[in-house]
Parts: sequence; structure tokens; C-alpha cells
Amino acid sequence: MNSIATALGQVRDRIQAAERCFERHPGSVQLLAVSKTRPIADILEAVAAGQWQFGESYLQEALDKIRQLQGKGLKWHYIGRIQSNKTRPIAEHFDWVHSIDKAKQARRLNEQRPDGLPPINVCLQVKIDREESKSGLSPDQAAQLAMEICHMPRLRLRGLMTLPAPAEGLEAQRRPFHALQLLQQRLSTPQLPLDTLSMGMSADLEAAIAEGSTLVRVGTAIFGPRRPMA
Ligand SMILES: *Cc1c(COP(=O)(O)O)cnc(C)c1O
Repeated sequence: MNSIATALGQVRDRIQAAERCFERHPGSVQLLAVSKTRPIADILEAVAAGQWQFGESYLQEALDKIRQLQGKGLKWHYIGRIQSNKTRPIAEHFDWVHSIDKAKQARRLNEQRPDGLPPINVCLQVKIDREESKSGLSPDQAAQLAMEICHMPRLRLRGLMTLPAPAEGLEAQRRPFHALQLLQQRLSTPQLPLDTLSMGMSADLEAAIAEGSTLVRVGTAIFGPRRPMA
């Protein structure tokens, strides 16, 4: 087995072990393979090992990969910073966007999502623990934008995403994830059922699963360390 297939197996084992340990339903946590900065050959190895959902952060790079891998039935998730003037290619080519943190981005994605495609799945990125972070809505802003998105037919609001500051140890890692779970419960209503908590990465996926994550975004633990971007 090649090393990406082996590493994917290990990540799947970690997810299953955490589901058992924290009394989550088996299979309730999905794995998003974060393939930013990785070559097509790495993605193909992951696909051969059964992975079909990929997360990308850099738009031009992502669009090239999506084009080259067309027809394989893969799902593409945009997880990077969104420039408001570059929403159109996101609306046209992605299945999910996790990183909405401004109303303007949501409005533009709703206008630009092509009619022939299903509504685009979206999560709101919330700044739950780091006030100094540039990205992310405050919990109150997230509540307000969630209400607005109810009236955007080309968007389907699925839940919340967060990217907390790195922390050591399970208890410290769980704290921001717990806060995001509580916010999700507060925002979710019968009219607006939210089913996705996008939280947890290579270093903290167990803590995220303990706090109700339904989708972990994992790069390094699958593909190895990233080379710093120029
Ligand atoms: C890069 C990235 C990840 C993956 O991080 P790893 O530590 O490599 O697992 C997850 N989420 C977002 C938003 C990212 O930008």
C-alpha cells in the first residue's frame, strides 16, 4: 500500500476510535481530505483509497484541480478566505463553502450559483475563541446572517465552521469546539435545521468529535507536512 493510503487508513481508524470513545454513532463523522498545495497525483492516490471529498483553500489552484479531475464524482469544499470579488468561480464549481464570514459573500454566492446546479451547501465561519483572528463572524453576527440566508434560495445553510488557535491537550482543545456546538444548538430550529459542525483538523480531531463534530478537515495527517507557500 502506498503511504497516502496507509495514512488515510490511520485517520479513519482515529475517527472510528473517537466515535466509539465519545459515544457518537458509527459513521456520523465525515472525513474531508484537505488537499491544498498537494499535487494531483496525491489526490488520485487518495481517490484510489476511497476518499471522495476534498477541501481546497487557494482558488486558482483548486479550479485547476477540479477541471483536471472532472467526471470522477468527487465533491469539492472551499475552505479558504473568500474575496468578495471572486465568488463567481466558487459558486460555479464547488459543492460546499465552509468559510463564509460576510453577508456580502453569501448574497453574491446566492446570485451567482448557476440555476442548473443544486443549492450550494454553506457553513458560517465563526470566531469562537480568538478575538484577534481576522476571519470569522462573532456568534451574534452568525445568528443574524443565518436568518438572512433563510431567504437565499440558491444557498443551503448546513451549519458552522471554526478554526481555533492551536491548543495542547484534550481539555483545552475541547473548549472552543464546545462553544461552537452550543451556538449550533441555539441557531438550529425546525425551520432551520442545521446538520453540520465542521471542526477538527489533524492535531485536534478527537477533541472535535468529542464535542459533536460531523466533519473533520484533515490535511497533514493524510498527505504529510505541507511545504510553506511562497
Ligand atoms: C489547512 C486547513 C486544514 C487542515 O489542517 P491540517 O492541520 O493540515 O490537518 C483544515 N481546515 C482549514 C480551514 C485549513 O485551512
